[in-house]
Amino acid sequence: MMHDKQISKISLGFFPTPIIELSNLSRVLGGAQIFMKRDDLTGLALGGNKTRKLEYILSDAIAQGCDTIITAGAAQSNHCRQTVAAAAKLGLECHLILGGSEPDAVTGNLLLDKVMGCHIHWAGEHRKGEDIPELYEQLQLAGKKPYIVPYGGSNELGAISFVEATRELVSQDRSFTHIVFASSSGGTHAGLMLGKEIFKQSYQVIGINIDKGEIDNMPFCQHIVSLANRTARLLRLSHELTAADLILEDEYIGEGYGIVSELEREAITLTAQTEGILLDPVYTGRAMGGLIDMIRSQHITKEDKVLFWHTGGAPALFAYSQDLAL
Ligand SMILES: *Cc1c(COP(=O)(O)O)cnc(C)c1O
Repeated sequence: MMHDKQISKISLGFFPTPIIELSNLSRVLGGAQIFMKRDDLTGLALGGNKTRKLEYILSDAIAQGCDTIITAGAAQSNHCRQTVAAAAKLGLECHLILGGSEPDAVTGNLLLDKVMGCHIHWAGEHRKGEDIPELYEQLQLAGKKPYIVPYGGSNELGAISFVEATRELVSQDRSFTHIVFASSSGGTHAGLMLGKEIFKQSYQVIGINIDKGEIDNMPFCQHIVSLANRTARLLRLSHELTAADLILEDEYIGEGYGIVSELEREAITLTAQTEGILLDPVYTGRAMGGLIDMIRSQHITKEDKVLFWHTGGAPALFAYSQDLAL
């Protein structure tokens, strides 16, 4: 199965993404040197962390001779938007299974999905790909050769892209004490955790949990560690990570996935007004809110040098105008 697969990638974005210093934000917070890895600038139809994953996953789809892509997510999924863009570029048909029902206002990522062309299937409560097998079968019966990109692109191939992102980071030659980012389907987290071990880095890898609940009937923390270990196996490495290697901050979930509170509002406006950089309401706004809180509570100290990994998502801002109205 997975083990016999060739690991290859196709180019879908612009790498390495830059690292910049957020000196104004650092100053306003009174400490900790803050840097930002700009994966919002990967370049694929407004960018984001899924571009890295799709370079490996869609390479596999093409190698298998597939002609149709299926993936799933929330109506404002950044993962779905980047998958639609990649499929368009590669000449593949693309099907999205989106949570909820067709909204009155087509905006943000959903607007971009439609502009780039895809088939949308509304799935009600099922926003994590529960209905993928059924659609897969239907498309097969219709004579297509479908390929499933898992929820969030978080399988071993997706995680490998963040082992490679660690290689990229190390080559950019800076030493950080912490890496902070939004963690939601686990591929980014698993890859960065494993990458830290492979490249013998000393920084802490801190995922800010965005979404309570389980993935594949497994608590999220267990899913991340399991994915990191399966990824090591695919790379034929003997690393064995345990729960003790995982830092997943559950404190900032608030009312749940996609529900904006003062934490996100402050992080988004402060970053925008001090640095001219746009975060998103669901992921990076929450993760930056967590970082700001960790700096204020001195969980991260003035002497620390933190890298905030900007995973993208700003197109969703337009769909949250009510929550962000000042
Ligand atoms: C998907 C996504 C994440 C989370 O990455 P995972 O690998 O799914 O955990 C973070 N930020 C943004 C903007 C995303 O779209």
